[in-house]
Amino acid sequence: MLRTEHISVNFGGIKALDDVNIRVESGNIVALIGPNGAGKTTLFNVITGFISGYSGKVFFQDEDISHVAPNVIFQKGISRTFQNLKIINDVTIKENLILGLLKKKIKKYYFKNFFRMDKNFRKEIEQTLENTLELFGISEWKDKTPDEAPYGVLKYLELARSYLSSPSLLLLDEPAAGLNNFEKEKMIELIKKLKNEGITVLMVEHDMNFISSLADKVYCLNFGKIIAEGSYIEVRNNPDVMKAYLGDE
Ligand code: ATP
Repeated sequence: MLRTEHISVNFGGIKALDDVNIRVESGNIVALIGPNGAGKTTLFNVITGFISGYSGKVFFQDEDISHVAPNVIFQKGISRTFQNLKIINDVTIKENLILGLLKKKIKKYYFKNFFRMDKNFRKEIEQTLENTLELFGISEWKDKTPDEAPYGVLKYLELARSYLSSPSLLLLDEPAAGLNNFEKEKMIELIKKLKNEGITVLMVEHDMNFISSLADKVYCLNFGKIIAEGSYIEVRNNPDVMKAYLGDE
């Protein structure tokens, strides 16, 4: 589904990524771990076209998407959530969700008709939104504004909005961050649902319990280099990974 070949990024002398090769197989959930500053967000930025100053190549479904613009990469089926939620505060949860529909070309067509109040289109969109709110367990919050909702609901909302753009690959930046244990369990169930629908997931995450419940494969980055890859257990027990997290002592 996705592979990177020899990706390197320099930020004024700092090697943020150094010859990074990863593979994400279709239908899998892959986790990217590593200490702060290891290069995880930079790799997400390369894959989604947010950074163009890099060497190496990115392939998505065997197509070379290196240096392609973010909106084009999005249209090809790679969607992304962010560490800092991109949520609009003065509209409702449901209206925030509508934004997920805006981005696809076909959905733009729906949208035009939505504002012309074409009843059938409006109904169809309403149904899609209601189904999605239901699927992500946030129906009861739909008419509230984001500042009235718990943080967990906003994280589910962001995931729901990405899901609405019908991605084949979803990049999640720290889906468990800021969630309590109950919310984390729910997030795990939601991500499993997406996997069952055939969506491939690459996630940056620090929470090891969360990763162990979901990941088919784990990569560990440290100082811009992949230092380990394998199952969760293999990577967790890798001496280089332990050293990266704990230092030499
Ligand atoms: P965290 O877990 O803290 O989010 P990360 O693994 O995502 O960290 P990156 O944010 O990718 O790490 O940063 C990798 C390195 O590149 C760090 O040394 C960081 O300071 C540097 N860096 C990242 N973005 C830039 C930038 N725009 N300009 C200069 N240096 C940058």
